[in-house]
Amino acid sequence: MNIILLGPPGAGKGTQAKRLETGRGMIQLSTGDMLRAAVAAGTELGKQAKEVMDSGNLVSDDLMIGLISERLDQDDTKGGFILDGFPRTTAQAEALDVMLEQKGLELDYVIELRVDDAALVRRVVGRYTCAKCGQGYHDEFQKPKVEGVCDVCGSTEFKRRADDNAETVTSRLEAYHRQTAPIIPYYENDGKLKTVDGMAEIDEVTREIEAILG
Ligand code: ADP
Ligand code: ADP
Ligand code: ZN
Repeated sequence: MNIILLGPPGAGKGTQAKRLETGRGMIQLSTGDMLRAAVAAGTELGKQAKEVMDSGNLVSDDLMIGLISERLDQDDTKGGFILDGFPRTTAQAEALDVMLEQKGLELDYVIELRVDDAALVRRVVGRYTCAKCGQGYHDEFQKPKVEGVCDVCGSTEFKRRADDNAETVTSRLEAYHRQTAPIIPYYENDGKLKTVDGMAEIDEVTREIEAILG
């Protein structure tokens, strides 16, 4: 099964993708994570992407399309993939269709997580992850069972993303509404779109996604 998780920053794409990885053996392909790894490694791509990401704008379509096309060729995508953060523009959605066709791959569902803008700001500003294993947390909505200790790996070090601040979130939400939301009708037309209420609790959202995937 190959799917896209679509939704604004903070909608819960990463949280749900991680659960699908554990539960179904699918693999999360997060373009945001790939870009942050490139920035941390100081690669040419990272250098080109850093400023754009810090400002809350989108990295160029050409770079993103090349990145995801290469990633889809790796063997670990054979058990099913979850695109998280791609496509984000009409040009990316069109390029994805072409590359899937060329690679002989099929897209099963596009699952849109719908969340109010006001809730998104709170989600993004309170988001943090374990520095060691990457498990996601939230100051209010998803605290570790023992304060300051990762549930999964026991690490006591956590990190926050440079772009998860109130100012950048506003630009990122604007970019979502202006550049990404227009791809929703594109997937509606080909019958692949499923919309889930992303305002529900994390477990409930997981149940709804599982019901779609069957
Ligand atoms: P979020 O999880 O908050 O939706 P991401 O981690 O997916 O954010 O992306 C972080 C940043 O990386 C974006 O604000 C954008 O600058 C860049 N980025 C990620 N994916 C794409 C993409 N498909 N096209 C353009 N820019 C992207
Ligand atoms: P995205 O990948 O779409 O940007 P995340 O999965 O990183 O979003 O979620 C953003 C923040 O909101 C995280 O801190 C996460 O713990 C929290 N979160 C995710 N889903 C929910 C939910 N349904 N209700 C409340 N908080 C949530
Ligand atoms: Zn951890």
